[in-house]
Amino acid sequence: MSPADDTGALIGAPAATAVFTAVLTEGPVSRVRLARRLGLSSAAVTKAARPLIERGYLHELAATERTGPGAGRPASPLAVRADREFFLGVKITADELIGVVCDLRARVRATARRPLADSGVEAVLGELGRLMDTLLHELPGQRARVRRLGLSLSGDVDRTSGLVRYSPFLHWRDVPLGRLATRATGLTVTVENDVKALTAAEHWFGEGVGAESFALVTVGTGIGCGLVVNGRLVSGSYGVAGEIGHLPVDAAGPDCHCGGRGCVEAIAGTDALVAQARERTGRPDLSLDEAVALARGGREDVRAVFARAGSAIGCGIAAVANLVGPTRIVVSGEGLAAYDLFDTTIRASFERQAFGAAAQCPLSIRPLPFEEWARGAAAVSIQSLVLP
Ligand SMILES: [Zn+2]
Repeated sequence: MSPADDTGALIGAPAATAVFTAVLTEGPVSRVRLARRLGLSSAAVTKAARPLIERGYLHELAATERTGPGAGRPASPLAVRADREFFLGVKITADELIGVVCDLRARVRATARRPLADSGVEAVLGELGRLMDTLLHELPGQRARVRRLGLSLSGDVDRTSGLVRYSPFLHWRDVPLGRLATRATGLTVTVENDVKALTAAEHWFGEGVGAESFALVTVGTGIGCGLVVNGRLVSGSYGVAGEIGHLPVDAAGPDCHCGGRGCVEAIAGTDALVAQARERTGRPDLSLDEAVALARGGREDVRAVFARAGSAIGCGIAAVANLVGPTRIVVSGEGLAAYDLFDTTIRASFERQAFGAAAQCPLSIRPLPFEEWARGAAAVSIQSLVLP
């Protein structure tokens, strides 16, 4: 069957979903282990895997793995055929589109960017088409294997309907982006909040694999947080959950754009960092890069701005650990390009504020290029294939 034929849901039965998800995120893995791990019989695993093998999504590796001492015949692990299908992922920002093509295992195969002169919906869709042409050009002869596109952007997004309820940076309200992009591209489109998309990528293909619960905290223009609890992404009953950017950490701190005071974001968001560094140096035109250079050069009053930001972030993360108790926390985002300036104070403040054993929760602190956000959008698209 050619990929163009199978536009319907790939799988429907829960066992098939479970098998495909486990092989995709943890594979290669033998049928015996799959059966044990998923609580299925070997026959059920074989039955669930058969159509996925027939359609080219899974294949059997050579029988090399033995399942234990004294085990019988060697098992043939099941693995994903990563090249079976490719997925476009695009992160939309106010002034740029960042795009990637990923294979089924979410490995990035091509990247491209396009500047946005106009962040109106029609202009963005036009540039999206040009970006896709550039990306597909990088995959000669594979165009028929690209059927899905994932989009991500900051703001309040309804993943189920593809509706962007509100995106402050783009000034969008109630934009049916999924429907519009489907019509413009002819692809099956998913739309997700950018932080949730990044969390999905970490959950399935990154440090969150196998963790029952984990949190991803992003540091940049905004301070975001994606939460996975009991293996599921938390969306919140009102579409808001894990907003650590708006946890108040300093009652006497600066006013926040949300209307609150002393929020983590009002102290540690990019705009806040730049504003504080300008005030300390008396240079009203100082850029973030210049502030970073001054801090690295040893200028103490500017270093103190980053230290205060790290402290605020650490308090926010400790609140997540105290409330939710995740197995691990990843702290990332483009703001952490200067993570040498944050690392120590984030950890110190986390350890101070985390209650009891919550302080044992491991923190991974690392920078993250914008292409990773686009990969997150592609990961949501991959999930839509597996979890229709
Ligand atoms: Zn706030």
